Amino acid sequence: MLDISKENNQHKNINLLKNGVNSYIKWGLNGFSTAPKEIIDNRISICNSCPNLTKPTNQFVYKIKLHKNENANICSLCGCIVARKTTRKDESCPIGKW
Ligand code: SF4
Repeated sequence: MLDISKENNQHKNINLLKNGVNSYIKWGLNGFSTAPKEIIDNRISICNSCPNLTKPTNQFVYKIKLHKNENANICSLCGCIVARKTTRKDESCPIGKW
């Protein structure tokens, strides 16, 4: 499993924020469309068995959460919170697993 605790360039707070804002804008332009439940469940199942799924770091961007009890596990490749990424119709796995 990749250790992103040292914040490489891809996972610096500013880049994560920028990626998050860009993703949100793209999602908005697509009408905030969510994937069907069976697709979300399949994506989550794939992520849960993926070695790139990891706990979030202590970076402040991961402390900005919409839901108190939201699963905060992240994809170590893109830095996304998987519980959110998997619900968005226009998102995809960075290595093509879904
Ligand atoms: S998005 Fe892809 S690479 Fe990331 S945890 Fe899920 S399956 Fe793994």
